[in-house]
Amino acid sequence: MIHAIKGMRDILPPETALWRRLEDQAREVFRLYGFGEIRTPVLESTELFSRAVGAETDIVGKEMFTFQDRDDSSLSLRPEATASVVRAYVEHRLWERPGLTRLYYQGPMFRRERPQKGRYRQFSQIGAEVLGSGEPGVDYELLEMLSLLIARCGVRAELRLNSIGCPADRGRYHQALRAALEPVIGGMCADCQRRMHTNPLRILDCKVPADQPIIAALPTIEEFLDAPCREHFAELRRLLDAGGIAYELAPRLVRGLDYYNRTAFEFVSGALGAQNALLGGGRYDGLARALGAPASPASIDQAIGFALGEDRWILAMQADAGATGEEPLDVCVIPVGAAMTAPALALARQVRAAGFAAIVGDGARKLGKQLEIAAREGARFAVLVGEQEAVQGRLILRDLAAGEQREIPAVQLAEHLAPAREVAR
Ligand code: AMP
Repeated sequence: MIHAIKGMRDILPPETALWRRLEDQAREVFRLYGFGEIRTPVLESTELFSRAVGAETDIVGKEMFTFQDRDDSSLSLRPEATASVVRAYVEHRLWERPGLTRLYYQGPMFRRERPQKGRYRQFSQIGAEVLGSGEPGVDYELLEMLSLLIARCGVRAELRLNSIGCPADRGRYHQALRAALEPVIGGMCADCQRRMHTNPLRILDCKVPADQPIIAALPTIEEFLDAPCREHFAELRRLLDAGGIAYELAPRLVRGLDYYNRTAFEFVSGALGAQNALLGGGRYDGLARALGAPASPASIDQAIGFALGEDRWILAMQADAGATGEEPLDVCVIPVGAAMTAPALALARQVRAAGFAAIVGDGARKLGKQLEIAAREGARFAVLVGEQEAVQGRLILRDLAAGEQREIPAVQLAEHLAPAREVAR
């Protein structure tokens, strides 16, 4: 037997219906906030990710599916989509279009991580990006939009918020971190020892339990923010308070990708165990320029976005909203005798045209057997199409839940089926 490869999986009904529900809700919420959809390729040049995400990050350093193409160029399956969106923004000079660039995407991402519940090697993200403004109001609206999506999906999630300042702030913070780490780094994990030299900020993201007490005692970035970064963060917090959006300050929250600055956030779920981050995002002023956008006006280069993990979001919908995705089947149309197959098929067509989900029984089987199958398939009603009734324009409608049946005029069928849809909603 051939199995799906490690960390990659099939998603089957009824769960797929939950995925569709999430994606439909997201599209609708994005529409309300003026976003348009972008679809970018799943394969990009490896250089895009090493430049945009950062060669020193776990994602680029350890987790990408990278291969040499026949012409010797190095290609990678995308581990995330912001780099691609910004590449497209620069390639198509989207800032020349009027207004802000508001884009959303949905699709599979690939990271060679150690698989566990909520963590896969192929997973799906929905994300949105606003390019062309550094205003805290834009940051606020993105968070408000996410709160709406969370509410609409019946998921419970908490917003954790931080500001990680600008590169100059981080330069000062790095120095302070290194000074504080100097005496203790020898006792930390090998990754932290390496990060101490490459990017000490990443140490805050370490998940090794033994390192946590050391991390908890490190200075936070807050005191190293310059006045404009401090004011930006203060204004975002004022807007969140005014909009009634609750958040928790998370002074050690840093993101796994190098391109973030100023606003950094994530939404966490209490229902997911170790992999509790439902989504993450932040501001990435400077990335467009690093990928070739012009230096002025400065707004071209200012942007914020987020990516939510659909796989985890579905787990949260199941846990928090009790959602199963089970699609109710309204009707099983049963031909009583093989001769009634064609009329039964025709009736099923009419039933579906009226918006009811219908399957057709097998006229070669006995009526009792067909009713059994209809119940097993979860149909709410069975409609019996018999020779004698057909002549009279009548049908037998059987309520499979109540175990009752009656004869009705064929033309009234839709009215009698209506309760099935009401139950479904
Ligand atoms: P990131 O792109 O790392 O900021 O991740 C954004 C979101 O994607 C996370 O909060 C997760 O919900 C989800 N995510 C990231 N990596 C994985 C993975 N390997 N498997 C499933 N979901 C993931």
